[in-house]
Amino acid sequence: MALMTPEQFEESLKSLHPRVFMNGKQVQNVLENRNTRTVVEANKASYEWATDPRYSDIMTCRSSLTGEVVNRYTHVSASTDDLVKKAEAGTFTAEMLGTCIYRCVGYDAFHALAATCWEMDRDLGTKYHPRFIEYLKMVQSRDLAVAGALTEPRGKRNQRTIDWPDPFLSLKIVDKNKDGIFVRGAKINISGAFASHEMVVLPQAAHFEGEEDYAVAFAVPTDTKGITYVCQYTPYSAERDAAQDLSELGNPRFGQRETSLVIFDNVFVPRDRVFHCGEYKYSVKFVTRFAKTHRMTCGGTCKVGFMNQIIGAAKLIQEYKGLEKATHINDELMEMVVLRETGRACGLAAANKGAEEPAGSGVYLPDELMGNVAKLNICNAFWRVMALAGDIGGGLIVTMPSLKELNNPEIKDYVKEFYSFGSTEPTENIMKVHKLLQNWTAGQHGVATWHGAGPVMAQKIMLQRVLNYDHEKDLVRQTLNLTR
Ligand SMILES: Cc1cc2nc3c(=O)[nH]c(=O)nc-3n(C[C@H](O)[C@H](O)[C@H](O)COP(=O)(O)OP(=O)(O)OC[C@H]3O[C@@H](n4cnc5c(N)ncnc54)[C@H](O)[C@@H]3O)c2cc1C
Repeated sequence: MALMTPEQFEESLKSLHPRVFMNGKQVQNVLENRNTRTVVEANKASYEWATDPRYSDIMTCRSSLTGEVVNRYTHVSASTDDLVKKAEAGTFTAEMLGTCIYRCVGYDAFHALAATCWEMDRDLGTKYHPRFIEYLKMVQSRDLAVAGALTEPRGKRNQRTIDWPDPFLSLKIVDKNKDGIFVRGAKINISGAFASHEMVVLPQAAHFEGEEDYAVAFAVPTDTKGITYVCQYTPYSAERDAAQDLSELGNPRFGQRETSLVIFDNVFVPRDRVFHCGEYKYSVKFVTRFAKTHRMTCGGTCKVGFMNQIIGAAKLIQEYKGLEKATHINDELMEMVVLRETGRACGLAAANKGAEEPAGSGVYLPDELMGNVAKLNICNAFWRVMALAGDIGGGLIVTMPSLKELNNPEIKDYVKEFYSFGSTEPTENIMKVHKLLQNWTAGQHGVATWHGAGPVMAQKIMLQRVLNYDHEKDLVRQTLNLTR
């Protein structure tokens, strides 16, 4: 069986030496730095679940490539059943972590790569698909964690890529030889790559003739020479750095959500890891296929898991406060559930209505319409769920003192008394649940949910492409017996 234990995963990271910076300093060891450690823990959890019989159905599957049981996050969906499992895994991992499953972008990129490499080989006679399949077999048999990047900081949006004064604001091929290619550029907002084994890179900015050097997709180990990570540093990062005891934080083990800028400074990519190189007409297909896959989960069912955490905390606070019979609070909880189930339904519909794309490739992708509708709904639903939780939680969500006060001999008795709500629940628990809601409602997740998998306009553009309203117009003509 090709599954690493969580301990083996952690051990395997020790042989990687990514160049990582955070808060003005180099991170010498991502396993030890408190903030990068949260990504190690989240990825490690994905290995724990895969080897736990309680979760193996959702977290593993049998690979048609290797014949072995593999982690689901290394698998390309080959049926609508696979897509449904993928959607469900999004909910499962998100609710268990209370943050990102950092392997999801790589997982979704695999779908775009498998479909588009196959299509390029069919249309152009290239040999990318067997190359990608060999790579994927290696990932599966070694059970590697793979991050994904659509590469852009991006220049002025009203200019063509080749007109940008700085040509490297999207990742670009700068040289080629018989052994491979050299690339330069960057990606802002890559999730968790520094604690993964590998990174797959998809193009973002190649649209027209003359932009062939931007038409590039490949895979590299995360500590490849020339790659540098500049991590985010937020008030939550500072809070984690300053904590005496991690249990005083809103998500002690897995943290908020960690991203970085990843810089590729003349990085060499061996030929057998290059999956797209100059065929600019196909670049957009990588993006759209990635987007439709990612929107079903990152935009849809994974937020169901996040909402479960928020709803659970709001419900507990209702009970601590003795508000079980308050009708408006029960209405608010109900509204949260309805929003959650709408998100789940759209994601599952996208999976169930998925189809092989391109026909004959063996790759199944979610339904474009429902995937984009899932993400559009979630963008607004997630803010609303957080607002409702804020109402139920009260001001304490943002005004609470540190949990350290519970150990401060001078004031601990006051804190225990005045934050107890007169409930039999230990004050420490009450404060921790509020802290968890602070983590959600006053943290990064709102904006991150909006922009992860693309902001709303990106979904609307996709929807405009698939909608034509012919059916609806015909219905009206038929009802009114219109002859023209
Ligand atoms: C926490 C987090 C984690 C992420 N992780 C990853 C990851 O691991 N891998 C990955 O590939 N991506 C990841 N992303 C997504 C990605 O990096 C971008 O955030 C996403 O594509 C949105 O782009 P942006 O943030 O640059 O926003 P922008 O594109 O700058 O959007 C800001 C506004 O500008 C508008 N806009 C942008 N371009 C145009 C235009 N041409 N015309 C008109 N309006 C325009 C948008 O509609 C929006 O209203 C992540 C994002 C977040 C927030």
